[in-house]
Amino acid sequence: MPPINEEQIMKALGEVNEPTGGKSVIELGMVSGIVIKDGNVGFSLEVEPSRAEQMESVRRTCEKVVRALPGVLSATAVLTAEHEAPASKSSRPVSREQSTAPAAPDVPDVGAIVAIASGKGGVGKSTIAANLALAFAINGHRIGVMDADIYGPSMPRMLGISGKPRTGENKKLLPLENYGVKCMSMGFLVEEDSPMIWRGPMVQGALEQMLRDVQWGQLDILVVDMPPGTGDAQLTMAQRVPLAGAVIVSTPQDIALLDARKGLAMFQRVDVPVLGFIENMSYFVCPHCEERSEIFSHGGARKWAAKLNVEFLGEVPLDIEIRETSDQGKPIVMSNPDSAHAKTFSDIAARLADKVLKENKTRLPPKIVTL
Ligand code: ADP
Repeated sequence: MPPINEEQIMKALGEVNEPTGGKSVIELGMVSGIVIKDGNVGFSLEVEPSRAEQMESVRRTCEKVVRALPGVLSATAVLTAEHEAPASKSSRPVSREQSTAPAAPDVPDVGAIVAIASGKGGVGKSTIAANLALAFAINGHRIGVMDADIYGPSMPRMLGISGKPRTGENKKLLPLENYGVKCMSMGFLVEEDSPMIWRGPMVQGALEQMLRDVQWGQLDILVVDMPPGTGDAQLTMAQRVPLAGAVIVSTPQDIALLDARKGLAMFQRVDVPVLGFIENMSYFVCPHCEERSEIFSHGGARKWAAKLNVEFLGEVPLDIEIRETSDQGKPIVMSNPDSAHAKTFSDIAARLADKVLKENKTRLPPKIVTL
């Protein structure tokens, strides 16, 4: 069978009408960003922000029509709204207040939103996010985790949560909970084997929905596990979520640090305070002979933090127990709370809480655009 192409998808979508005017979604120019990968199709449907709810059935019909085409294995459509272009291409510093419209997300009960970010994937960002979230909770704070790493959502696994979120009052999704931490992740909403083909605008839409359409309740801190990298999607995300600050996770290697420095520049560009660097996989202590090895040459993040005038929050060693416990859904802070590693996370969490909860009292909420 020949592979599916964009033309066939457009033709099929040409049969789906927008309910009010009787014109098709293609005629109205609503379809954009068609991505085809090995028979998996993704696209976005641009809608008026006020009509997003009404358009949900159109979105589902579009997915159904495309899924029915020969050669299509899966179809994912996401509703998005076009706002003014994100300021990502400009080299000029842009403040969030200048570049966004005066709508705030509906998260009035959240004390501070903290992003855990990294310049590239695989540095242990999600592991650190999960352990910090649990450490905040153990330290007595009300905590939520928003898994915005929608390219590879790993929070459900790390926090040992499975299932589908239920809908509560006002049609809002109820986060799932474990260890006293509330969690929402795209991992709950899409099938595990469905493709994660998201374009920038889709990513933003999904993120804003997780902020606005989830009943988080009263939280002291919402930890956001950001998608790795410093591209347009991450930049816009940093701009559109009212972040109290960001933590950048890095491994000690120079190359990773180069990425970490890009991460720092990205947050600075959109006026998000960088709360500090964490060096992960910083060193290795042999469990048998206790000899310490600096596998990736230790200390790079501390050195760069000093150079860049960023706080160095701490170093987490490369340790099999850290990997096994988080991969098994019982992060070390929870499964071995008396360990030295748990203490490291707890200390970092205490410093961060101190910073964001204090600073946040004097910080005005930034204005952001919602879908
Ligand atoms: P990221 O979110 O940056 O992509 P993850 O948190 O998913 O990275 O970590 C990637 C892998 O590395 C996971 O299997 C995780 O268990 C492991 N890992 C992360 N940090 C450590 C550490 N300090 N020691 C041992 N393994 C770790």
